[in-house]
Amino acid sequence: MSKPIVAIVGRPNVGKSTLFNRLVGGRLAIVEDIPGVTRDRIYGDAVWLDHAFTVIDTGGIEFSGIENEIANQMKHQAQLAMEEADVILFVVDGKEGLTINDEEVANMLRRANKPVVLVVNKVDNFDHTEQYNEFYALGLGEPILISAAHGYNIGDLLDEVVKHFSPTEGEEEDDDVIKIAVIGRPNVGKSSLVNALLGTERVIVSDVPGTTRDAIDTALERDGQKYIIIDTAGMRRKGKIADVVERYSVIRSLRAVDRSDIVLMVIDAVEGLTEQDKKIAGYAHESGKGCILVVNKWDLVEKDDKTALRYTEKLREGLGFMQYAPVIYVSARTKKRVAKILELVKFVADQQNMRIATSILNNLIREATYLNPPPSDRGRRLKILYATQVAVKPPTFVLFVNDSELLHFSYQRYIENQLRQTFGFEGTPIRIIPRNRQ
Ligand code: GDP
Ligand code: GDP
Repeated sequence: MSKPIVAIVGRPNVGKSTLFNRLVGGRLAIVEDIPGVTRDRIYGDAVWLDHAFTVIDTGGIEFSGIENEIANQMKHQAQLAMEEADVILFVVDGKEGLTINDEEVANMLRRANKPVVLVVNKVDNFDHTEQYNEFYALGLGEPILISAAHGYNIGDLLDEVVKHFSPTEGEEEDDDVIKIAVIGRPNVGKSSLVNALLGTERVIVSDVPGTTRDAIDTALERDGQKYIIIDTAGMRRKGKIADVVERYSVIRSLRAVDRSDIVLMVIDAVEGLTEQDKKIAGYAHESGKGCILVVNKWDLVEKDDKTALRYTEKLREGLGFMQYAPVIYVSARTKKRVAKILELVKFVADQQNMRIATSILNNLIREATYLNPPPSDRGRRLKILYATQVAVKPPTFVLFVNDSELLHFSYQRYIENQLRQTFGFEGTPIRIIPRNRQ
C-alpha cells in the first residue's frame, strides 16, 4: 500500500530539515549506524495517531541542469511537491518575516490542486503572536505557528496534516503476486528494459487499470507465477508529465518502492551509480524490500573477463548497506540476459519468504556465539538466550537477550552475516530485534 507523501517546501534556513528531523525523529536513531543511509537524507517515515506517512524535505533534492539560484530551486521544489505530494507543508520563517521568495512560492502553491499547510516556524515564544498575522497575506489560510527546534505545536501541525489524507484507497492485496518496481534515473533504459522483458517472455500481459497515478502497472505471468511490473517511466511515455527538465522523480520512485516487493534498481553501465540512486536504495533497504541491481547498457562497455567483477566491487563500495543485493548485467538493446531478470526476481522473492525453523536457528546462534563470543561492555556481557523468526518479507528475527543495550551494531552485523552465510537471504534485508528477557 502506498503511504501518503508529505512534502516540506520553503526557503533555505527557514527550518525545513529541523522540522523534518522532528517529524521522523523516532526512526532516525535506529538506522544511525548504517553507512550511507542516514547522511543527507531527504525522506523518512512518520506516524501520527493511526496514520503512517512519508515525509520529504524537498530542500535536499538536487535538480540537475538548473542554476543553483535560490528562487529557481524553490520553484522547482514547489513544482515537484505540487505534482506529486499529497500534502504540502510550506514553511516560512517567523523571525525574518515575509520575503519576496515566500510570496512567489505562495503564488504557485495557491494554484495547486493539493492541500497546502502554511507553517510559520521559529515561533519560540507564544506571547505575542499578533506579529505573525502578516502571513495571512500569502492567501494560504491560517498559518500554524510552530517551533521546530523546541517542538512547540508540532501536534497541532500534524493534526492539520492528517486531516487532508484521503481515506485509504484500499489497493487490493494479492499475496501470490510479486510486485516489481523499476527504478532509476531518466535514460538509464527503464522503458526499454520493461519492453524487452515483456517482449522476450512468453507471458500473458495485461494492463492493470488505474491502480495509481504515478506509474503504469503491467501484469504478467510466467511458469505459473504472477508478477506486476510498476514502471515509473511509463507515465512519461503516456505524456502525462510535461516537464521541461527531465528529472529523476524521487517521490514517484519512493511511491513505487512502497508498493513493491522487489526493487529493480536500474543503473546505466556507463554512468554508474548516482547519489539519488543511493537514496532510493536506502529507502528500499529501510522499507524491507528486496533489491536487485540491474546494470543496463552493458553492450556499451568494453569488457574483459574481470570487468563485471570489478564493476560489482565498485557498486558494493557505493552501497555499503546493501551487500546482499545481487547484480545482473544486461542490455535492453541486445536483450542479453534480460530473460534472466524474472528468474532472479523469483529467486529473491523465495529468499524473502524463507522461514528458518527455531531449532536450526538456535543451533546457529549457539555456534556463532561460541566461535565469537560477544565482547563485554563495562564488565557486562551480552547473552543471547533464545532466537526466533517472527516474520518474512523481510525475514525478521527476535533475539531474547539479557540486556538489549549490550547488543552493539557490530555484533548484530556479525549475527546477520552468520545468518546470511548459512541461509543466504540473497537480495533481501534482514531485521534483527533484540528483546530483554531476565
Ligand atoms: P533549512 O535550510 O530550511 O532546512 O533550515 P534548517 O532546518 O537547517 O534550520 C536553519 C536554522 O534555523 C538552523 O540554525 C536551526 O537551528 C534554526 N531553527 C530551526 N528551527 C528553529 C526554531 O524553531 N527556532 C529557532 N530559533 N531556530 C530554529
Ligand atoms: P528510461 O528513461 O530509463 O525509461 O530510458 P529509455 O528506455 O527511454 O532509454 C533511454 C535511451 O537509452 C534510449 O535512447 C535507449 O535506446 C537507450 N538504451 C536503453 N537500453 C539500452 C541498452 O541496453 N544499450 C544501449 N546501447 N542503449 C540503450
